[in-house]
Amino acid sequence: MGQIKGIVFSLFIVMVSSISLADSQMTTVTNYSLNSNMLAINLNYKIPPAPFIKYISDKNMIYIDIPDTTLSSLALKQSINNSEYIKKMDALNGYENDVTIFIYLNPGVKYQYVLSGSSKQFQFTFTKVNIPNKKITIVLDPGHGGKDPGAVGIGGIQEKNVVYAIAMDLQKILLQDNFNVVMTRNTDKFVTLPGRSRIANTSSADFFISIHANAATSQTGIMKGVEAFYFSKTPSQYAQTIAAYENSVDKRFGVQDSYTDLIVNDIFYQINQDKAAQMAALLTQDIAAATGEQNRGIYGANFAVLRGSEMPSVLVEVGFVTNSIEARNLNSPVYQLEIASAIAQGVEKYYNL
Ligand SMILES: [Zn+2]
Repeated sequence: MGQIKGIVFSLFIVMVSSISLADSQMTTVTNYSLNSNMLAINLNYKIPPAPFIKYISDKNMIYIDIPDTTLSSLALKQSINNSEYIKKMDALNGYENDVTIFIYLNPGVKYQYVLSGSSKQFQFTFTKVNIPNKKITIVLDPGHGGKDPGAVGIGGIQEKNVVYAIAMDLQKILLQDNFNVVMTRNTDKFVTLPGRSRIANTSSADFFISIHANAATSQTGIMKGVEAFYFSKTPSQYAQTIAAYENSVDKRFGVQDSYTDLIVNDIFYQINQDKAAQMAALLTQDIAAATGEQNRGIYGANFAVLRGSEMPSVLVEVGFVTNSIEARNLNSPVYQLEIASAIAQGVEKYYNL
C-alpha cells in the first residue's frame, strides 16, 4: 500500500472507530455452497454490504473484498477445489475488518453475479464458453551472444554461454508445458537490444523474459544471489547501475539507440509494470528456493531491452559469475537445469497453471 493511501486509510480507521461501528452493523459470511453452476455465498447482515468485485483476466480469477465483514468459523474452514467450474476458492479474514474471497475459475468459465436481498446471498452463476485454445507465448531472451560475451567471470566463464544454456533448458520445459516459446537467439550470435524487442513485439508475445548473469565491479567474490528487474521510468539507484551495464552493450558494439519513444502510453506502462513486478517476484523466489541462492529482490529499472517491449517484461540475473561458488554452479549443466526449472515453475504460478 502506498504511503498516501496508507494515511488515508488510517484516517478512515480513526473515523470508523470514532463513530464506533457496532458489531450489529457488521456482515457475517456464514457459509458458502456450490450446486452445479451456482455458487451461493450466504450472508448475515442488517445493512446490505457493498462488495468490491474485480475480475483479474490473466488469472481468470474473481477477487471479492467485502468491507466490515467477518467469516463465521464454518466459512473459515471451507474451500472449494477442482470443481467443474471453479478450480479453487478460498475466503480469508482480511486485516481491515474485511473479508477477501478468491475464486479461480477453470479456463473458459464466465460468471454473472447478483446480491439477492431476499435470500441474503451473493449468487454467482457460471457458464462455459468455447474459447479457442490459444497458447501463451513467452519470449525467452538469453542475454548477449556472438561478439558480446556479456560479463566474464572466474575461470573465464562467459555470461552469454551460461544464460544460453539456461534459456535452452527453459525452452524445452515450457514447450512440454504447452507454452508457445519464441527465442531471441538460438545460436551464439549477436542480437541488438532493439532487435530483441522487435522479435518479441512481432510475435505478439504475452511475456518477455530476459536471462542474464551478474558481475560485481566492486566487492568481487562477495556479491552473490539472484535478482530480477522490471521496467520502470523511475528506477532506484542500484537498478540504474545494473541497467547502465546491460544498456551499454549496443553502444560498445556500435549500435545506435533509436527507440526510446516506444513507451506507448502510461496506462499500458502501469499495467505491464504491475504484471512484470509480480512475475519478477515469483521468479526470484522460485530460483532462490530451488538453488539456495540469496534472493536479492526485485527492482524497477530502465533497461533498454525491457523498455522496447510492448508486453510485460522482466530481466532476471540468475547469479554472479564473479563469485567463485556461483561461477562454478552456473557453469554446471545440472545447476543450469535447476534454474530453468525454477523459472518455469514461476511462470506457471504466474499463469495459475
Ligand atoms: Zn547481461
